[in-house]
Amino acid sequence: MVNKYWSDLVNRLEPYVPGEQPKQAALVKLNTNENPYGPSAKVIEAIREQAGDNLRLYPPPESDQLRRAIGDYYGVGIDEVFVGNGSDEVLAHCFQALLKHKKPVLFPDITYSFYPVYCGLYGIEYQTLPLTADFSIRVADYVGDNGGIIFPNPNAPTGCLLPLADIEWLLQKNTESVVVVDEAYIDFGGATSVGLVNAYHNLLVTQTLSKSRSLAGLRVGLAIGNSRLIEALNRVKNSFNSYPLDSLAIAGAVAAFADEEHFESTRSAIIRDRELLGTQLAERGFHVLPSAANFLFVRHLSMPGSALSAGLRQKGVLVRHFNRPRIENYLRITVGNPEQNRALVQALDQILV
Ligand SMILES: *Cc1c(COP(=O)(O)O)cnc(C)c1O
Repeated sequence: MVNKYWSDLVNRLEPYVPGEQPKQAALVKLNTNENPYGPSAKVIEAIREQAGDNLRLYPPPESDQLRRAIGDYYGVGIDEVFVGNGSDEVLAHCFQALLKHKKPVLFPDITYSFYPVYCGLYGIEYQTLPLTADFSIRVADYVGDNGGIIFPNPNAPTGCLLPLADIEWLLQKNTESVVVVDEAYIDFGGATSVGLVNAYHNLLVTQTLSKSRSLAGLRVGLAIGNSRLIEALNRVKNSFNSYPLDSLAIAGAVAAFADEEHFESTRSAIIRDRELLGTQLAERGFHVLPSAANFLFVRHLSMPGSALSAGLRQKGVLVRHFNRPRIENYLRITVGNPEQNRALVQALDQILV
């Protein structure tokens, strides 16, 4: 129903629907790719230290300290780093600042479902290109005239990784528009494209602290690219919200990049358990896509995805099911800690008798 008080745009919007954040703590939550391990103790300490009288002040608007820490971590200059309130906000700014042109923006048919939502919000034309039968991105499809290209690497919700050589090939064939590589899951097994930003001034790489750094609740995302691309993002940011990162988020995020040991030990545990869980699921009749992320994308050879997802919900295990063409029988399952993974496998054993 059209609401007369709403703008035409809002009447036509189809917002993104995030995975359920249940109020019951008892559920085994494997539906939103959160990290099962808490953030570094040094992050908590830094936030605690920051929580004082200074909260009466606005935070530094350009988050210089954090951008310098990220620049140092990745070996790029502070002018090549942008930060925002979660990478979703960074991506929104990318769509408005860099991907809105007269020609359509290109992304895969099966990908992060926020991309078409941003296109709707900003009135951007887009064209989806089908993944191959084994759900990989064929870069040769992305060479036509376009207003920009965006895809996650590894892709979501498939977990499939595109080799750096393919990304570099794509950049060489596509010099007239911006290529955004959304590296939300890159730390779980892929090679980052950050090293290509000096050679390719149309490459923008986005990342988040929500997954590999266990800070989904802090809302910190970033982009790395040539300073002219970063300047475009700053122009949008400074026309929208001068202070996207609060002082606590800045302090916590700086501390997160300083604790390499916590980062390494938690991500290697998740990578190890992903392989174990993949084997256990395959033994139970699942087709498991190779994953370079902190989740598995799986299809049971006899049980439909909707029934499996509902059955697991009933047993207190939340996973993500997308009721969309080509993937309606797949489940996206976050790799949890060993106890959560065991609970999932036990629930499956009861459902699949
Ligand atoms: C989780 C995710 C994001 C967004 O993460 P934020 O929590 O907003 O930083 C972006 N892209 C993809 C593909 C994701 O899965």
